[in-house]
Amino acid sequence: MQGKLLVIGFGPGSADHMTKRARQAIEESDIVIGYKTYIELVADLIGEKPIISTGMTEEVSRAQEAVKWAEKGKKVAVISSGDAGVYGMAGLVYEVLIEKGWTKESGIEVEIIPGVSAIHSCAALLGAPIMHDACTISLSDHLTPWAVIEKRIEAAAMADFVIALYNPKSGRRTRQIVEAQRILLRYRSPQTPVGLVKSAYRPRQNVVMTDLEHMLEHDIGMLTTVIIGNSSTFVHDGLMITPRGYQRKYSLDKLEQRLKPHERLRKEAEPWALDQTEETESVRKTAEEALQKVAIRQYEQARAIEEIFELAVSPGVANKAFTPQQMLLIAEMVGNRGKMMYTPDHYLKLEMLTDRPDDMVRKLKEAGLVVMPIGNVLTVKACDFCDGEKKEGIPYAEQLHEKLGGMALPKELKLGINGCGMACYGAVREDIGIVYRKGAFDLFLGGKTIGRNAYPGQLVAEGIPPEQIVPVVIQIIQEYKEHGHPNERFHKFFQRVKKAGGFVYQEPRTNQKIEVSACGE
Ligand code: SAH
Repeated sequence: MQGKLLVIGFGPGSADHMTKRARQAIEESDIVIGYKTYIELVADLIGEKPIISTGMTEEVSRAQEAVKWAEKGKKVAVISSGDAGVYGMAGLVYEVLIEKGWTKESGIEVEIIPGVSAIHSCAALLGAPIMHDACTISLSDHLTPWAVIEKRIEAAAMADFVIALYNPKSGRRTRQIVEAQRILLRYRSPQTPVGLVKSAYRPRQNVVMTDLEHMLEHDIGMLTTVIIGNSSTFVHDGLMITPRGYQRKYSLDKLEQRLKPHERLRKEAEPWALDQTEETESVRKTAEEALQKVAIRQYEQARAIEEIFELAVSPGVANKAFTPQQMLLIAEMVGNRGKMMYTPDHYLKLEMLTDRPDDMVRKLKEAGLVVMPIGNVLTVKACDFCDGEKKEGIPYAEQLHEKLGGMALPKELKLGINGCGMACYGAVREDIGIVYRKGAFDLFLGGKTIGRNAYPGQLVAEGIPPEQIVPVVIQIIQEYKEHGHPNERFHKFFQRVKKAGGFVYQEPRTNQKIEVSACGE
């Protein structure tokens, strides 16, 4: 008995959109092999036949199993959704066969049965977005290096293809779609129409019309195909439509066309085509018009050059606990090309390549993070107030952060705020330190925070009433901001001007010089 491999694409999922040959092939097979979900979608046709179903990632073993049974003389149906030759089983089946020395002549018979792929079923639900040159890109980097995928997205974006993104996102792969959007935005307008189709022609079908800028605000999953328009694609009445050509040989508002059907293919009717050798004025003009849309946009986007953008984030002034969502967002934003570093000031410092720094700040803030600039600015270093238990001091720390955090100063300045007399976060060792104790604040000024001769701040006042602490600190900072020399640290400033916020400077006790011999005696 001669076995046969029937590699079947059953279309998007509904029986109506399956081809007649696909249906027959399943019916005439002895065994059906496929991913569990797919088997369920065509269960009616399978009836009592033996089924070999495996998980999503076991494509290779499915192909090997199929070949094994066909070699034993069975008619084996290998089923894929959409078209079996588009990120489906067809190629794999051939690969397994070829590995075993298969040829068309001598080997078992193979029939590949075409099906309606997601690019086409999803396009139909959206309107007519694939009217012009289009491509499919799978964002799955399980079998393809991300560097290759990134290049393809960039090339397709640059060449103004309509793009269908397959496998855009899964439980574990969430960053790929974010990166894809970032690359696309370098070449296409944020308003480019984008269609999201989930489970086309299946019971949970969901169609969303959005644009490049807002696409990530919607649900995108394993069963979604994302269709990105080209520079001419438009939306009308909820439908996504790409015009048939950049250059119109037809007029839509006239019944009588300027060119009769037989005239349309004449050379003079398409002066922009490759075969035309003579460059006339009209050729140049039409070619220029055709490219205008793409070119202008690319020029505009090219000007938005990516730069390294630095900032620092923390989960809160007193709160030290990042949530998993915040960590995921940060990791996504930083990506492979950026950096994230832990700082001694209870912040994560982020270095990101971007041409849209404002967007990044907005997203981080929306996620509840405190966002701070880097450089010669004031940083509030509050303690965690014993995990929020000693909460009396927190509102003052928050007010000071709100009023002063990130303020540009002659030199970086750390304002330490600790919530009890233990001062275990070391407020006393900062440029300015305040410690909440017995319902009031102690104030320390001019700590020398670095160097071998570092010393703590001077205790200049004890028991400042809570309602006074914010204005007192603001006064000191304003004096420093106005009168400090560029790059002059606060302790140097205090030493030089001898008075800050009305508090008088005293010479610190310096370390004694100890002469030490080679053996430490
Ligand atoms: N062979 C399939 C593609 C398999 S890859 C085909 O030709 O369509 C799996 C991806 O296909 C999914 O992540 C999704 O992007 C897309 N897809 C498959 N069926 C779909 C459907 N019914 N609706 C929307 N997208 C679908």
